[in-house]
Amino acid sequence: MPLLFGTAVFNEEQHLTIGGCDTVLLAEKYGTPLFVYDVAHIRERARGFKRTLDSLGVKNKVIYASKAFCCLAMYQLLVEEGLGCDVVSAGEIYTALKSGMPPENIEFHGNNKTEAELVYAVEQGVGTIIIDNFYEIDLLSKILAEKNQTQRVMFRISPGINAETHDYILTGQEDSKFGFDVNSGQATEALERILANERLILQGVHCHIGSQIFSAEGFLAAVEKMLLILNEWKEHYDYTAECLNMGGGFGVQYTESDDPLAPDVFVKAIVHAVKGQCELLNYPFPEIWIEPGRSIVAEAGTTLYTVGSQKTIPGVRHYVAVDGGMGDNIRPALYGAQYDGFLANRKSDEPKELVTIVGKYCESGDVLIKDISQPPLQAGDLFAVTSTGAYGYSMANNYNRNLKPAVVFVENGQDRLAIRRETYEDLTSLDM
Ligand SMILES: *Cc1c(COP(=O)(O)O)cnc(C)c1O
Repeated sequence: MPLLFGTAVFNEEQHLTIGGCDTVLLAEKYGTPLFVYDVAHIRERARGFKRTLDSLGVKNKVIYASKAFCCLAMYQLLVEEGLGCDVVSAGEIYTALKSGMPPENIEFHGNNKTEAELVYAVEQGVGTIIIDNFYEIDLLSKILAEKNQTQRVMFRISPGINAETHDYILTGQEDSKFGFDVNSGQATEALERILANERLILQGVHCHIGSQIFSAEGFLAAVEKMLLILNEWKEHYDYTAECLNMGGGFGVQYTESDDPLAPDVFVKAIVHAVKGQCELLNYPFPEIWIEPGRSIVAEAGTTLYTVGSQKTIPGVRHYVAVDGGMGDNIRPALYGAQYDGFLANRKSDEPKELVTIVGKYCESGDVLIKDISQPPLQAGDLFAVTSTGAYGYSMANNYNRNLKPAVVFVENGQDRLAIRRETYEDLTSLDM
């Protein structure tokens, strides 16, 4: 059985439908490859995080991590659902602002924000800048002095936690390019320097321990570590954090073997841990911020491809090629990410065979799904790869001068274009 998420179902014609829209008709209308986003699923995830935090009676902010997938339509959805966003470049700030995202609901991350980006963020009134390193403290201080302005900030702590993750995407460990290390005293020095600067209004501390995390243990360890250091700072510096930002990284399901906790279970575990530690240490309960990215959009996204050529090497492998690949989904090539996929345009009762789904790019590593059991696929078939909503389009590229696909949002039987397909003209529009 294929993995179906959100509103995805097969209709009587055995066509995959998402958001009440027949994917066969979507493919005809918009062409393939095509990203289809189940808007109801995005809304449900966004609301779910908010609902869980509110139901636990904690002051909170849910801030979507833009890097998973962003465009004007996505930001507009977030605005409708009352979420903020985290951004990691001036380009993301620009897009968020253009969509109508209130600047105060934007928080700016990154380990090497440029001076121009920081100036832009300050000028646009970005809500929170999350300081990552000493260089940034100095750079931001200089900018604020020149403009005679203040800025709300947090700073990122690398708590030295090795979170369990299936995706080799660790960021919270000691040896990380992100944030101030606790064990060597850097985090405490950062606190001193930020507190000493009147233009930096410190809202609290941030950590992000990694991505595609399946269990709560890493978060619990991080909460414990963060509150220990906060409590130390309360005693030595009389500093109490107003907000504790625990980052994102909540895992999602790509294939049947993935078994992450449900989003609300992660959130409850974090809140209970913070409550427990605060009571233990007699520390004032902080506002809790979270930054889910993947867990809001991954399962909402499906990529539709058209099957083309095939190659069988007897006794070795049967390759089935589709009309996209590493240009629209680089994750399998980049870090061995696994996906599920299936025939989306017809029913087949023929016996299944083991195939490897490859793309059309000039790299042997352009493999989307290795060794998956499928009924015989034919040229012209529609092949759906599920759970492609995060880090797919946002990492899309023009390798081989292939066009970036279109992105369509579907909801209640309606489809609307969120990002149009690139044209050959777009491809040469920057060439001189
Ligand atoms: C990437 C990132 C996130 C989101 O991670 P997901 O795995 O997509 O939930 C949140 N916060 C920070 C700082 C990040 O770098």
